[in-house]
Amino acid sequence: MSVSSLSKQFNFFEDFLIKENIKFFSSYSMSKYASWRVGATTPFIIYPKNLKEFKLIILEAKKRKIKFYISGNGSNSLFVRLSKTIIISTKKLNKIKFGSDGKVTVEAGASLNLMLNRSLKKGLLGFEFSSGIPGTIGGALITNAGANGGTISEILESVTFLKENSEIEVPKSKILFGYRYSSITREDIIIKANFKLKSGNTATAKENIKNYIKHRNKTQPVEYPSAGSVFMNHQNGKAGKIIEDLGLKGLSVGGAQVSHLHGNYIINTGDAKIKDVKNLIEKIQKISKEKEGIILSTEVKIIDE
Ligand SMILES: Cc1cc2nc3c(=O)[nH]c(=O)nc-3n(C[C@H](O)[C@H](O)[C@H](O)COP(=O)(O)OP(=O)(O)OC[C@H]3O[C@@H](n4cnc5c(N)ncnc54)[C@H](O)[C@@H]3O)c2cc1C
Repeated sequence: MSVSSLSKQFNFFEDFLIKENIKFFSSYSMSKYASWRVGATTPFIIYPKNLKEFKLIILEAKKRKIKFYISGNGSNSLFVRLSKTIIISTKKLNKIKFGSDGKVTVEAGASLNLMLNRSLKKGLLGFEFSSGIPGTIGGALITNAGANGGTISEILESVTFLKENSEIEVPKSKILFGYRYSSITREDIIIKANFKLKSGNTATAKENIKNYIKHRNKTQPVEYPSAGSVFMNHQNGKAGKIIEDLGLKGLSVGGAQVSHLHGNYIINTGDAKIKDVKNLIEKIQKISKEKEGIILSTEVKIIDE
């Protein structure tokens, strides 16, 4: 699409958002949104307040051939270039509905933290693994997020996707999950998911959570903006250890730095730019390939049109 016809489509799209009274911001810097506190500027970020609005926006974007990107909490994302891409945030899609026998249906934008707290209040266990992971249900399903010996797929029953204008519920058995991997692709739009939790001793669970957080605070640079672990672990070992053994802790590009505390974290020391983070990622990959023959692939999603 030419620049002029794209800007025309954006104008129509803005009119549509205003007409439908949908909350959005134009020319929005994703540095305000992403946990790394760096990010490109998107023409629009849109906050649908319910699934009906979410579907409406997606249909309209598709109709106008406008590229869109679904974002949860932006805690696993590096937004490099977005000049032609709008962001649809799921942050307001956070309804949680408890059923019988530990069954719970959660909208894609509910945070793992909200889910953990709500389920504990109901005396239900299963989400403790996620304590300290700052993501949403949708984002967590994409990478099969995990920590503290558990992953989101272990308690999952099914995922509901938006296909065309219909909701399609897919059982867990039809989705592949692995280490920081799921077979859900970028084209698949998650709207909600069903989980099965177990009744149990919430006092013990709360004690475990305290210990998980204590451990996190001791071993991860939680006081700096980051996106958590940047690289996937490798068959030769944990990515953090590989980076540490290469002597790369403390390596900096501009305001981006490999954490002294955890080799797999790139922290924003205050004024990092997108290119600092990107260049540092590429530098680490180059050094590990040249020195050890190890190809480190990123766990973080790099969004570059
Ligand atoms: C301090 C810190 C600690 C972390 N610790 C951990 C950890 O211990 N374990 C771990 O696994 N991760 C960890 N992470 C990484 C991150 O929090 C998780 O990957 C989290 O699940 C990402 O969720 P999100 O909503 O922020 O995803 P986003 O960054 O918003 O999105 C990630 C991907 O999911 C896609 N997506 C999001 N929602 C939808 C949807 N509804 N439909 C379709 N696609 C969607 C996006 O398009 C993108 O491709 C950490 C991050 C930080 C900053």
